[in-house]
Amino acid sequence: MARSAIVLGAGMVGVSVALHLRRRGWEVALVDRRPPGEGASFGNAGLIQREAVHPHPFPRRLGELARIARNRGVDAVYHPSALPGLASPLLRYWWHSEPGRYEAVARAYARLIVTCLDEHMAIAREAGSADLLRPIGWMRLFSTEAQVDAARREAELARRDHGVGYRMLDGAALAEAEPHLMVRRAGALHWTDPYSVSDPHALTTSYARLFEAQGGWFAAGDAATLERAGAGWRVRTAEGPVEAAHAVVALGAAAGEVTRHFGYAPPLFGKRGYHLHYGLRGNAVLNHPLIDEVSGFCLVPMRAGIRLTTGAEFARPGASETPIQIGRAEPIARTLLPLAERVEDRPWMGVRPCTPDMLPVIGRIPGQEGLWGAFGHAHQGLTLGPTTGRLLAEMMGGDTPFVDPASYRAERFA
Ligand SMILES: Cc1cc2nc3c(=O)[nH]c(=O)nc-3n(C[C@H](O)[C@H](O)[C@H](O)COP(=O)(O)OP(=O)(O)OC[C@H]3O[C@@H](n4cnc5c(N)ncnc54)[C@H](O)[C@@H]3O)c2cc1C
Repeated sequence: MARSAIVLGAGMVGVSVALHLRRRGWEVALVDRRPPGEGASFGNAGLIQREAVHPHPFPRRLGELARIARNRGVDAVYHPSALPGLASPLLRYWWHSEPGRYEAVARAYARLIVTCLDEHMAIAREAGSADLLRPIGWMRLFSTEAQVDAARREAELARRDHGVGYRMLDGAALAEAEPHLMVRRAGALHWTDPYSVSDPHALTTSYARLFEAQGGWFAAGDAATLERAGAGWRVRTAEGPVEAAHAVVALGAAAGEVTRHFGYAPPLFGKRGYHLHYGLRGNAVLNHPLIDEVSGFCLVPMRAGIRLTTGAEFARPGASETPIQIGRAEPIARTLLPLAERVEDRPWMGVRPCTPDMLPVIGRIPGQEGLWGAFGHAHQGLTLGPTTGRLLAEMMGGDTPFVDPASYRAERFA
C-alpha cells in the first residue's frame, strides 16, 4: 500500500507520471473519465519543443497590448465576459513577465525543457512509437530582414545559453526547403532540434499501452469523487472504488477543480486553442511545421493532413466553442499553401493549462499528506510530460531528483 498511487488524468502528463511510477515498482491506477490522451494532449501542434527555453510571456509592449485589446487578431482573442474572472491571474502573469523576473522564470523553465528530447525518446523506443517523433524541427518565417536579424540574435543566445540548435535560411533557401510555399519571405529560422509528432494522440496512447503492459491499470472514473480514505485516498471508478496511499492530480486545465476541495486553489487559467486538418492539392507537400510570423498560427504536416492550430483564446471555463481564429486563419493559410478541402466538419478545441508565473506545478500539494500535483504546463505539456513524470516519480519515491524541483513547488500559490 505504501508505494501505491492513483494518478488522476490520462493526458501526456498523467500517463507519463503513471508510467514512471510503475517502472519504479509502484502499484498504479490511472483514472480518467475519457480514454487516455483525449484532452489537450490530443490536438496540439505536436512539437517536442527543445527550443522553448523561454516560456510565453504576457505581452508588455503597448502597441501589442492595444492590438490584442481590439480583439481582431489571429494569434490571441478573448471573450469580454471572461475578463472579470481572468483579471487577477492575467495581472499576475503580466507581473511575472517583467524582464527581470522573467529571466529567472526562463532559467527555471529551461532546466526542464533541455531534457525533453531524451525523456521522450527513452519512452517512445520502449513503447514502439519512436517513428512518431520526426527529427525535422520547425520553422518561423519572416517578412523583413530586420525580423530575420532579430530572430538570429535570439537564436544565438538560445544556442549559447542552452545548447539549442538552429539554422537561418534566406528567402531562396526557404523556397528550396518548402517548394510548395506560395509566398516569398525574407527568410526563416529553422529550429533544428525539436521532434514533430505526426500523431500526438497516438504518442500518448502508445505510452499508456506501455504503462498497462508493465502492469499498470487504467480505469474510467471522475476525479471529482476523490476523497480521503484513512491516511490514503479513494476514487470511484467504473470498476468500483480504488484506494491508494498517494494521489496525483494531473488533470491539466481542470486540476484546480479537484485540488480546491482539499484547500489548494492555484490561480490556473486556460488558453484555449483549436485545430482543423486540410488536404494539400495535387502532389504538394509541407516538409516542416511552420509559423508565419505575420499570421500567428501554426501549420503542421500530420498523419491526418495539414493541421492548422490556433493561438490563444481566453474564455470562461466551460464557455461554448467559438473558433473564430480558425475562420480568420484559414484564408491566410490558403495564401501560404495550396490547401485543399477541410478534413473535418468542425474544429477540435483544447485548453492549455496555464499558471501566472509560466512554470508548472510539480510536487506535493501543501497541507495534504500523499497528495501531489503535476499540471500547469501551458504551451509545452506535450513536450514536458515525460520530464515531469520522471521528476515527480523520483520525488514521490524519495530519490534524488534529476532536475532541481524547487521552482515548481505547489507552495508558491498556497
Ligand atoms: C492548439 C494547441 C497547440 C499546442 N501545441 C503544443 C505543442 O506543439 N507542443 C507542446 O508541448 N504542447 C502544446 N500544447 C499544449 C499541450 O497540449 C498541453 O500543455 C498538454 O496537452 C497538457 O497535458 P496534460 O496531461 O496536463 O492535460 P490534458 O491532456 O488536458 O489531460 C488532462 C486529462 O484530465 C482529464 N480530466 C479532466 N477532468 C477530469 C475529471 N473530473 N475526472 C477525470 N478525468 C478528468 C481529461 O479527460 C484529460 O484526459 C498545445 C495546446 C493547444 C491547445
